[in-house]
Amino acid sequence: MRGVTVIQHPLVQHNLTRLRDKRTGPQEFRRVMSEVAALIIYEATRSFGVRPHSVVTPIGTSRGSQLKREVILVPVLRAGLGMMDSILQLIPHARVGFIGLKREEKSLRALFYHKSLPKDLSRFEVILIDPMLATGGSAVSAMDLLSELGAKHVRLVNLVAAPEGIAKVRSRYPELPIFTAAVDKKLNRHGYIVPGLGDAGDRLFGV
Ligand code: URA
Repeated sequence: MRGVTVIQHPLVQHNLTRLRDKRTGPQEFRRVMSEVAALIIYEATRSFGVRPHSVVTPIGTSRGSQLKREVILVPVLRAGLGMMDSILQLIPHARVGFIGLKREEKSLRALFYHKSLPKDLSRFEVILIDPMLATGGSAVSAMDLLSELGAKHVRLVNLVAAPEGIAKVRSRYPELPIFTAAVDKKLNRHGYIVPGLGDAGDRLFGV
């Protein structure tokens, strides 16, 4: 699938299997999701732009590089929070914005209940974090908002994606790079990913 990177690293797949297992309780689920997030983000940030930057070491001059743009992480509440801790450990200088979206029960439409973002996102590498790409409704609404705020360099980071969600995002944002640990079979009639891992927010927080 064009623009979709499925991360096949054995540690990612091992941990994803633990997350899928319904016997994995919230404490372990949180820890494992955090571990997987670090591995996924490592791959997702590989193409970050850098510019040359020289420093003086105690011995001489070293020609190195530094990131070209500021970084902002944008987790979609609440499940996106499960991936934040380890990502912030890897990118401690990143800013963090938040998008709160909930699904309307009947229509499965995504509705905003919270937005907290800088007014202008054009100078940022934006990492949009939503563990479950299901119908694609939340991802598209989140992307619409990021685009309105001028975001130009966005990556979507998921844990599990459904083909329906990928297709929806692709139809509106054909160039958006998507990183995920798995593309599952389908959605069920309630909009859950099959086999998926259930409700990621409920499993993370136990409610
Ligand atoms: N959100 C989840 O947490 N799980 C799904 O399967 C779909 C949406």
